[in-house]
Amino acid sequence: MTTFKELGLSEALLLGLADLGFEMPTPIQQQVIPVALKSTSDIVALAQTGTGKTAAFGLPLLQRLQLGQKHVQAVVLCPTRELCLQVADDLTKYGRFAPSCKIAPVYGGAPIEAQIRQLRAGIHVVIATPGRLIDLLVRQALNLDKVSLVVLDEADEMLHLGFRDAVNLILEATENRHSLWLFSATMPEEVRTIARTYMRNPIEISLIAHQQINADIEHEYYLCRPEHRYDALKRIVDAHPGIYGLIFCRTRMEAKEVAERMIRDGYSADALHGDLLQSDRDRIMQRFREGHLQLLVATDVAARGIDVSDLSHVIHYSLPDEPESYLHRAGRTGRAGRKGVSISILSPKMEERLRLIERRIRIAFTQKAIPSGAQVCERQLMYIIQSIRQQEVQREQIAPFLPQIYEALHELSKEELIERFASVEFNRFLAYYRNAPDINLNTRFRRSENANRAELTHKDKRLKASQRLSINIGQRDGLYKSVLLDLLTHELCIPKHAVGKIEIKHNHTLIEVSSRFAHKVCRGLDNFKVQGRRIRVESEYPLNGRKAAVKKGRERTSKAAAIL
Ligand code: AMP
Repeated sequence: MTTFKELGLSEALLLGLADLGFEMPTPIQQQVIPVALKSTSDIVALAQTGTGKTAAFGLPLLQRLQLGQKHVQAVVLCPTRELCLQVADDLTKYGRFAPSCKIAPVYGGAPIEAQIRQLRAGIHVVIATPGRLIDLLVRQALNLDKVSLVVLDEADEMLHLGFRDAVNLILEATENRHSLWLFSATMPEEVRTIARTYMRNPIEISLIAHQQINADIEHEYYLCRPEHRYDALKRIVDAHPGIYGLIFCRTRMEAKEVAERMIRDGYSADALHGDLLQSDRDRIMQRFREGHLQLLVATDVAARGIDVSDLSHVIHYSLPDEPESYLHRAGRTGRAGRKGVSISILSPKMEERLRLIERRIRIAFTQKAIPSGAQVCERQLMYIIQSIRQQEVQREQIAPFLPQIYEALHELSKEELIERFASVEFNRFLAYYRNAPDINLNTRFRRSENANRAELTHKDKRLKASQRLSINIGQRDGLYKSVLLDLLTHELCIPKHAVGKIEIKHNHTLIEVSSRFAHKVCRGLDNFKVQGRRIRVESEYPLNGRKAAVKKGRERTSKAAAIL
C-alpha cells in the first residue's frame, strides 16, 4: 500500500497528518493526490462523505499554494455552512506545520462585515458557500482574478440546493484558473452539465463501485403500512436501547414532524434542517456530538458536514431518490472499524426503490420483523439489567445516605429488591406496549392473535434471514474455510457479510448464507469441481420456490479446483 510520503506530499503536510494520526491514505486519497499534485488537469471525483475526500483535495490544494504571494489562490465551494466550517477546520489542521497559510471560511447566516475584514488579511484559500461568495464579489470584497484552483465539494448537493446560477457565476469569475476539481457523491445531469461546460478533458476518478461498500454495515429493512411508519420507528428505536443515530427524512417538513413527535413521546431527539437559525443548528449539533442527544432527525442536506464517527445506526424514515445517496447516508455508521446498522422503514410502495438500490449498488438487504411489544420490553429489561451490572458506584458520595436507604428497604428480600429496581424504567414500556398490535405487513411475520409472546419460530427466522446450504465436500477432500470463503466472495461475488457460519465436517460442509444470495451460491458452486468431484449443493429450505436440491450443473474446471 502506498504511504502519504510516496504520494509526494511535503514534509510540512506529512507532519500535520502524523499529528492527526492519519497513517495510510484512503483509496480516494491514493487516487486523487498524485494526479492533483503532478498535473493541472481538471478532475471529476465521485466520492461520498466519509471516504476521506476532504484530505484528497485539501492536501494537494495546500501543497500547490505559493505562500509568499498574498492573494486568493484557491476557492473551495461547499453547499452548507457546516461543511464549509468543517473543510476550513480540516485544511487548517493539515497545514498546521505551514503556519503562514491563511484560510478563511465565508458562509451565509453570519455577519458579512467580519468576513470582509478577514479577507483583507491576505488570504490564500477561501472556503465558501456559493451565495455568500457572490455577495462578497458584488461588494467587491474579494478578487478572484488570480485564483488558480477551484474545488466544488459535494457538487450534487450544491446544485440540488439551487446554487446552479451562483456556481456558474463563480466559475465564470475564475476563468483564469488552471484547474477545476469536482467532488460529488452522485452524478446527476446537472453535475454533468457543469463538467461538460467548464472542464477540459477531466480525469475521472470513481469510488462509487461495489468494492467500496463498507462491509461493517448491515442493511436491514422493515415493512409496514404507510400510516404505521412512525410506530415502527418507535419500536425499532425502543428495541435498540442505547442507540446513537441519525434518522433521515426526505423533506424539512417530514424531519420537523418526526422530531416533534419523538420529542413529545419522550425521546432524546431533535431535528436538523434548513429552516433553523444558525445558532440553533450549532447548539443541536453540539449536543448531538457530545452524546447529549441520542437521535438526530435530519434531511440529507442538513446532514452533510455532520462528522460524528461513532453512530450505531442510520435509519431511513424515507428512502432517498438516488441509490448513491443511500450509500452516502448509510456510510455515516460503521466507521472507524465499528459495526453499524442501516435500517430502512418501508411502505410497500417503497420496496421497489429498495430493490433498485440493491441492484445499483449491489448490497444485500435483510428483511427484519418489526419487534412485538413483548420483544421491546424484553430488550429494554435486559438493557436495564446490564446497566445496573455496569453501574459505577461512587462509594464515598453515596456512603452518607446508605444508612437511610438500608433502613427504608430493610424489609424487602433480595428478590423483591431486584424486581423493584428493574421495574422503575421497565413499567413505562410495559404499560405502553401492553396491547401493542403486530404492525408488520409481511404475513410471514404475523403472529396469531392469542400468542402472548409469540416469537418467530427459529425456522421462520432462518428461512427469512439466512439459508443453510450443505455441500458434498469436506475435510477429507482437503477443503479449508479460507478457500471456500475465497471461492464464495471472489469467484461468485457474494458479499462477505452475506456469508455466515461455515462448518467443515468430515465428508460435507455446511454454509450459512443470506437468503438473498442462497440461490446464487447454489447455482455458482454447482459449476465447480474439487479434486475431480463435482460440488453438489443442497439447501435446507426451498429457494424461492425452486427445487431444494440443486443437482444439475455444467462441469467446469475452476480456480477452486486448482487451489485444492
Ligand atoms: P471526509 O470524507 O473527508 O469527511 O473524512 C471522513 C473522516 O475520515 C474524517 O473524520 C477524517 O478526519 C478521517 N480521515 C480522512 N482521511 C483519513 C486517513 N487517511 N486516515 C484516517 N482518517 C482519515
